[in-house]
Amino acid sequence: MSMPDADRAGVNRVSLRIAPITCGRTVSAGRRRPREGEGSGGEGRTARPARCPRWPGARGPLLLDRAAGRTTVRGVATCDVSQNLALTHRPRAFGDVAGQRPAVAVLRAMITTGTLPQQLLLTGPSGTGKTTLARIVAAALLCDQRREAEPCGRCGRCSLILAARPAHPDVIELDAASNGGKDEVRQIASRARLTTHDSPRKVIIVDEAHGLSGPGGQAFLKLLEEPPAHVTFILATTDPDKMLATNRGRCTELALSRPAPEDLRGNLERVARAEGWRLTGEAADAVVAATRPELGVRGTLMTLEKVAPLLAAGPVTSEEICRALGMTTPRSVRAILAAVDKGDRPALLAELDQARATAGEAAVLRELGQEVRRRLRRHAGDELALRAELHLADLLARAATAGHAGALDVALLRAALPRLDSDPEALARLTARAEAAAHTLAAALAEADQATDSNTHRGRPAAPPAEPDQPAEPEQPAEPEQPAEPEQPGQPGQQEEDALARQFRAAVRAHDPATGDLLRGAGLRRDGREVLAVVAAAPLLDALRRPPHARMLAQAAASCGVRLTPQEAPGPPPVADADA
Ligand SMILES: [Zn+2]
Repeated sequence: MSMPDADRAGVNRVSLRIAPITCGRTVSAGRRRPREGEGSGGEGRTARPARCPRWPGARGPLLLDRAAGRTTVRGVATCDVSQNLALTHRPRAFGDVAGQRPAVAVLRAMITTGTLPQQLLLTGPSGTGKTTLARIVAAALLCDQRREAEPCGRCGRCSLILAARPAHPDVIELDAASNGGKDEVRQIASRARLTTHDSPRKVIIVDEAHGLSGPGGQAFLKLLEEPPAHVTFILATTDPDKMLATNRGRCTELALSRPAPEDLRGNLERVARAEGWRLTGEAADAVVAATRPELGVRGTLMTLEKVAPLLAAGPVTSEEICRALGMTTPRSVRAILAAVDKGDRPALLAELDQARATAGEAAVLRELGQEVRRRLRRHAGDELALRAELHLADLLARAATAGHAGALDVALLRAALPRLDSDPEALARLTARAEAAAHTLAAALAEADQATDSNTHRGRPAAPPAEPDQPAEPEQPAEPEQPAEPEQPGQPGQQEEDALARQFRAAVRAHDPATGDLLRGAGLRRDGREVLAVVAAAPLLDALRRPPHARMLAQAAASCGVRLTPQEAPGPPPVADADA
């Protein structure tokens, strides 16, 4: 066993005084006094406990937290577990193979009906269980207590074929990556022609079959073309395109795919049950999430080995597993995304800082990405929710490529801002705020008007200030009794409202002061008996068109004998009128 890094660095080691259960989550630990210049001890020290009676392979080094004389095992820094879970729990039946249902169904049917071809090719990425499946097929062909397609797993032949190193004389394995030469193939050919030892068939398993190239590949082609009647060839490769086309063409091909996370989880639960550990579904998910997807089934079992001592001591929560593996916890990932959904930016930043302190930026980003992918699948049928998830996924992907500190903060904060194009509620909230702001502005204008009026003692409202380059027309006194001449609407520089428009404005204020205030944001232009309320701000226009303001405007218009049409301003916002 190699020395843990902490030991090499001269950090204090914990010497265990009592270690009946060294894999337990709490053990009593003693500690020598630190030498000068050494740290005073604390969290995260490592120890190498003695052999554990409950998990003989787990010999640390364990990460320990110490408080008040008790030591809590927080995880395993590196695991020197001699029991290799992937080897110990290699599937021994088709039912145990994780995540290959289509291929397994085909193989079962072929075996049951006796139609398995003599040349079979299993393709798929590494870690998908090609060799394991080949051995199960071999066991099924040779087992004399087979039930339907399933080998018994207990008879002498099954035991030898499904052992960690297959030792049955009628099952021959060849690693073509290192032994794919002409001589090796000739040896295999001569062994293939011999009669079987004690079984009905002989099975030749060729791993890394793409290694059979050149003279070796040519020699193998002869074997594949005219196989002895009692021989079945099972070839396995990660790269079928590199195989000789002639060899590949002789085989019946079955593609294995990367197991889905649910399959990996199911497999972990199977192994945990066999070990007598209580592994919750969430804890199994955490183990899957901590494993690089391309490592497949074997990778997840290697990750499980790291937390084996924790599991051996009793039930473990997913939070503990995450801490031991240096991952963000599922709760933390959910809390971050919930804060994004709610637009609660302070909570988002607090959760993000906490997650980053536990697991580091890259892990947080990876696990957020995985959770968002799960949510994308969940929301595939809901267009609105899907848009929001796609937006978030896009921002996270950009943060991942940006790769600089703070990119994740920026992405999540941006995602937490309301999306106006896909969130009607956010749009309504903003509209309401704009309306409130318009009201406040209108009230302030009214106050300013009154102040100006009382200062100048003028009975009539002041004309709007003239623009320097466009002097306003001299003001014409209005005559309320006689309707003014119709004006051309939308004329540039036309800022004075005619008498009817002012009369209408007054009627609106009399009907409903709030609507009157709102109308201050609109310029009124008269066209015959029609008054156009020209508005630049869309939320204001929207408010004028909706109840209750629309109803008030209609009543006021009826009382003045005009029609009112709220209309969007084509150009810059209209100048608010200065009516009193
Ligand atoms: Zn058997």
